[in-house]
This record gives sequence, structure tokens and C-alpha cells, in this order.
Amino acid sequence: MSAARDSTHDPKLSSWVDSANLPGCDFPIQNLPLAVFRRSGSRENFRCGVAIGDRVLDLGALDMLSPFGGLGAEALAACAESSLNRLMALGRDAWVALRRGLSECLRAGSPRATELATALIPQSDVEFTLPARIGNYTDFYTSIHHATRVGRLFRPDQPLLPNYKWVPIAYHGRASSIGVSGQQVRRPRGQIMARGADRPQLAPSARLDFELEVGVLIGSNNELGRPVPVAQAEDPVFGLCLLNDWSARDVQAWEYQPLGPFLAKSFATTISPWVVTLEALAPFRLPWSRPAQDPQPLPYLDCEELRARGALDVNLEVAIETAGMRAAGAAPHALARTNFRHSYWSVAQMVAHHTVNGCNLERGDLLGSGTQSGAAPAEAGSLLELTDGGKCAISLASGESRTFVEDGDRVILRGWCERQGCARIGFGEASALVLPAN
Ligand code: CA
Repeated sequence: MSAARDSTHDPKLSSWVDSANLPGCDFPIQNLPLAVFRRSGSRENFRCGVAIGDRVLDLGALDMLSPFGGLGAEALAACAESSLNRLMALGRDAWVALRRGLSECLRAGSPRATELATALIPQSDVEFTLPARIGNYTDFYTSIHHATRVGRLFRPDQPLLPNYKWVPIAYHGRASSIGVSGQQVRRPRGQIMARGADRPQLAPSARLDFELEVGVLIGSNNELGRPVPVAQAEDPVFGLCLLNDWSARDVQAWEYQPLGPFLAKSFATTISPWVVTLEALAPFRLPWSRPAQDPQPLPYLDCEELRARGALDVNLEVAIETAGMRAAGAAPHALARTNFRHSYWSVAQMVAHHTVNGCNLERGDLLGSGTQSGAAPAEAGSLLELTDGGKCAISLASGESRTFVEDGDRVILRGWCERQGCARIGFGEASALVLPAN
């Protein structure tokens, strides 16, 4: 849970890449998130890149220019690969050395700026693939506001189950259907039990929803049988991304008992291409706390570090762009905004709980935070909540309305951090377009 700041966080730093210095830019020199990309439509090998302003710095090309030495150079050499896994295997000292090296290269006044500029590619000219080889995916349920509102729809008499305030609830998700932003999501078919019917039918989901989540990319392994103590539980974390856990609510309502989500979730998950490292997030830490009237966490989920700086201040937004808006050139309609700081369980608690039984997390594993919703109804991270289970349609600026996601809609997640005295950093976006069912 390091809040250590160094020269790479200095808000006064600027870059010789001019677009990185524009106010509101997601990718100033203080951010330096990583992705895996190639030129759009090319047959080039995918390789790692870092975002700076509206450009990607091609780390494969940068390596050829030997811009720095030592551990940073070793880390840079690992970035010619088509996933972040090899870089992650080098460990945090190498991740930090790479960040320092990149920061120095990209600073205004860098003597080699002209030469290094040959490794820049406009972001509008690239396509992305998944940032990591994701072996396992686990989705948590860390927003108590989401859990309570959804619980009320499914079980009005007992919205929040008694284990919620003790156990960081999660289920094992499906890694094979995780895609990167730009993904096209096919509306799933599934078993649906209509109200009043006496038997279910197989049909395209009529209640397709998004979930606004934060993804946590695991960068190092813990040994099988060795739990990770909560005070060290962020050590294996490489960074964070945006995550949309697509959900078919009608399928979910029928299948979820007694073992939880299955086919209502496993057809698609969309993540952002850019992984914002824990180092970049250091200035945006907050104390983690639990309301005094609630049970305090068991000792394995609690520590001084967590109380001091276990929460992360990340603004989150979800927007929708209908086919009509796209045709009219209209901007997407923001549906909700919230903040990861409202999460009932922190990143460290997710990792500590996941491993407490000895389960081994592995490099490339992805954890979802669960839908992030704030206390206010307008801060809900799913349509299920925003429309009160589909009962209250949302009016869009285009004159259209929505209860659930329709074919041709594009759903866009955004995230950013801002704080007085710090450079604003952003996550870019995770967007996906919904196609009709087959
Ligand atoms: Ca979820």
C-alpha cells in the first residue's frame, strides 16, 4: 500500500510530447500506463506501449534506442513481448525502474527527444489486445450500496445477506471471454423464466446490463498454501484497469441460486487496454475505514497500513452511445458517476481473502472489484439499479430511453484521479458495442 511519491509524480513535470501537457489529458507524464498494441489493420507483432498524451510510445522500438541502462533496461527489453507477463515476472523493482526511465526520457528538455520521437505512434492509429495472458478471473462484490440495492430487487425481505459485512464475496469468472475495449459483444441467449410462466424458455436476453467495475491485474505469484498477509497484499498487484462485467439479468435471476452467477456473466467481460500502475496511483490513496456501527473486519483483513491508506480515490463513469446518437454525431450520454473510494472492501482485502485458504494467485490473474455504486441512486454502476429493476426507464439526451442495453448501443466506462496538488491522471476508456443475438 505504498504512497511513496518520487520525482515521477511531481505535478510540475511536463513532457516534450505537447498533447500530454493539455489540461484534462488522461495520460500526462505522471501517469505512464501500459498496454499491448500494434498499428491498426497491420500484421505487426503486438508489443507493449506506454501512453503519453495522444500517442503511444512503442516500447519495442524504444528498446532499440537503448535510452537507459540497468534494471530499467532489463525491464524495457521485456516489453517487446505481446503481453505484460514477462515484464511483470521481473518484479516491482524492475517496474519502478522502468517508470523512472520512461519519465526521464519523456520529460521536457530530454536531450534525445528528437530521436525518441521516432518511437511515438498516434493512439488513433493503433489497435489493442489484452494487456496480459489472463489465466484466472475472479469477480468480487465489494460495493455495499450495489449489494443492498440489487439484493432488494431479488429478495425484498432480506436485501443484504448476513455474511456480506464479514466476507469479501466473490465468484470464479470466465477468463476466455475477456476482451479489450473496442470489443463487440454478442447478445447472449439463455434460459429465462418469464413472470407467471410455468416453464423457462431459451431466448436472447431481454435484460442485458453492464457493470461498472475496477479490474486488478496480478503481477506476481504466491505459493500454493501460502496466504498473503493483508499488510503485504498489494505486493502482487501490478496495476488497475476499467472492467465491464456484462450481465444478462433475466438469465441471472433464474440461474443464480444456489451457486451464484454462471452463464449470465460468462459470455463477455470488457477491460480497458491501459493498465495504470500502483506506482502511478500513489498520490491518490485515502484512509480505509469501516462505519463504527458495522462489524470491524477479522484480523486477517485488517491492519494499520490499510487504515492509513488502503482506499483508492478513482472517479468512475459509465456512458451510453446509441446507434441513433452515433448516426447524429452526438456525444455519449453519461448514465452514472461514482468513486472506487466507496468500496466496502479494498484491493488488499480482496487479495488477502482470496489467498487466505492457500489459493495461489498467478501472474496475469485478473480480479474484478464488483459493480461500484455510491450511496446515491444516481451513483449506481448498473442499469438494474438505475432503472429499479427495469421499472423506470432512463430518458437520454437524444430523446430515446433505456431500461436495459439494446442492440447497437455502445457502453463506455471511464476512470480518472484528481486531487489538489497532483497531476490528474486517467484510465482512458473501456467501451464495447452490443450486437444482436445469433
Ligand atoms: Ca460483477
